[in-house]
Amino acid sequence: MTEPQPTTDSPPTSRIGHGFDLHRLVEGKPLIVGGVEIEHDRGCDAHSDGDVLYHAVTDAILGALGQNDIGQLFPDNDPAWDGADSAIFVREAFMRMTAAGYSIGNLDCTVILERPKLGPHKTVIKANLAKLLGCDLSRVNLKAKTHERVDALGENRAVACHAIVLLMPFKT
Ligand code: MG
Repeated sequence: MTEPQPTTDSPPTSRIGHGFDLHRLVEGKPLIVGGVEIEHDRGCDAHSDGDVLYHAVTDAILGALGQNDIGQLFPDNDPAWDGADSAIFVREAFMRMTAAGYSIGNLDCTVILERPKLGPHKTVIKANLAKLLGCDLSRVNLKAKTHERVDALGENRAVACHAIVLLMPFKT
């Protein structure tokens, strides 16, 4: 029986990627989600600014490209990223995506945050993502949910985010 051989001459195809991130919430830190500082009595305990949404989106794009993850590209023991604006990470993922010949097909994100409500900030957050990713607003979706008071997320001791992205090749 012959082994299946990898195809090397197939045209570029769309690629899907998933990203997940979670940060502990502690007193005395800002809560930043999607580039927006949200008023709260606690924020993310993180090396960078702790933006779970930007981190999950970065990993989703890197995952779709089959590249190293955010922790490998931006190690949390590197002082260069101490308190860093996480938009830097999304921009790096965008540049790698463009270099590989892809653009955003669509992006769907779910932030899990017990409180406060993310609803009032959704419009600005989606606009931030669309701008960073060089795509139309209609290609970016953001959902928010609580964790039903269950576990660390439900007790507002952590915030998490899932992101799924579909990348489309420039040319087929
Ligand atoms: Mg993170």
